[in-house]
Amino acid sequence: MKKIYLDYAATTPCHPEVIEEMLPFFNQIYGNPSSVYQLAQKAKGAIEEAREKVARLLNAEPEEIIFTGGGTEADNMAIKGVAFANKKRGNHIITSRIEHHAVINTCKWLEKQGLKVTYISVDKFGVIDLDELRKSLTDKTILISIMHANNEVGTIEPIQEIAKIARERGIYFHTDAVQTAGKVPIDVKESGIDMLSLSGHKLYGPKGIGALYVRKGVKISPLIHGGHHERNRRAGTENVPGIVGLGKACEIASKEMANEEKRLRELRDKLYKGLNERIDDIILNGHPHRRLPGILNICVKYVEGESMLINLDLEGICVSSGSACTSGSLEPSHVLLAMGVPAEVAHGSLRFSLGRNTTQKDIDRVISVLPSIVEKLRAISPFGKEAKSKEYRG
Ligand code: PLP
Repeated sequence: MKKIYLDYAATTPCHPEVIEEMLPFFNQIYGNPSSVYQLAQKAKGAIEEAREKVARLLNAEPEEIIFTGGGTEADNMAIKGVAFANKKRGNHIITSRIEHHAVINTCKWLEKQGLKVTYISVDKFGVIDLDELRKSLTDKTILISIMHANNEVGTIEPIQEIAKIARERGIYFHTDAVQTAGKVPIDVKESGIDMLSLSGHKLYGPKGIGALYVRKGVKISPLIHGGHHERNRRAGTENVPGIVGLGKACEIASKEMANEEKRLRELRDKLYKGLNERIDDIILNGHPHRRLPGILNICVKYVEGESMLINLDLEGICVSSGSACTSGSLEPSHVLLAMGVPAEVAHGSLRFSLGRNTTQKDIDRVISVLPSIVEKLRAISPFGKEAKSKEYRG
């Protein structure tokens, strides 16, 4: 049975050219970039070349890129880094209710340290409430952290407007662009972004490597202390193969993004149309247009997302469901709940995320397989059609 991978928002396979580019740095050009001989300086040169490639993807300057151990670390560095370095200016952070846990749990931890955090609401499409954002600003606000696009439903946030609000008040603006970097164009200068997180494994690079863009002049404290690596902003011998791989992945993404964006959008829309025609009572989650090209998130009423996921897996199809397993029980997605989706409907969510190896044939297969899975599960569903959620139409 051919595997059909439709979980590119969870992670992506490394691009073959990325692997090829990384290989020599494991056992040929293995010098420590901090050493002085040529073997080491070649590794150092490769890091700087990769830094330029990452910067080019964002229209940033190379010295504004700090390599990190992934997206989670980049988010931590941005938020804690600003909180620690700007204590004298204030102690208030604004974020949203639909952020990734890398941001939400960092903010929750800071609250325990005495900082104040406001979690902004979103509308039914998952778009940030800009009025609430404006009203939440205080003279103690030091940072606004709002994601570029949501990882579950794909909604793209109005980051340019948010950046403008922040800039007018002299507040730093960080955006988690882990799902958007390499998928849709980003220009940090034009958008007025002060800090931006990205992650290698979401754009066909390796896992455990990421980057934080920090605009020149932004004051952040390092989280990891030690040697003078990364201009004293992130100590530790660099992950040279990972950095080289991330650089290559960014270079490829810059070239392929425009075509891939269009191709994925068409496939994604065909998938939704096909499913919507064959399955009753499904709801599209996320913004109808302002959405990442590769993400389709739906709720199938009267069925558990987990059950559909397991049945699809038996057919060789990999997808995600929004529910997260917390202490042995399934919690509905905090993103869908924030968008006003009732808990019993949110339990029936499925996220398909398409990527560079997704074909029309894959989409056709899902369209042919899922309706019978839903029919079978609905026949034994504990949520009767009489359930209150019937009224919910998204
Ligand atoms: N932020 C978002 C929006 C994500 O989707 C993810 C990963 O799923 C992360 C942060 C964490 O990135 P990493 O897996 O590189 O730590």
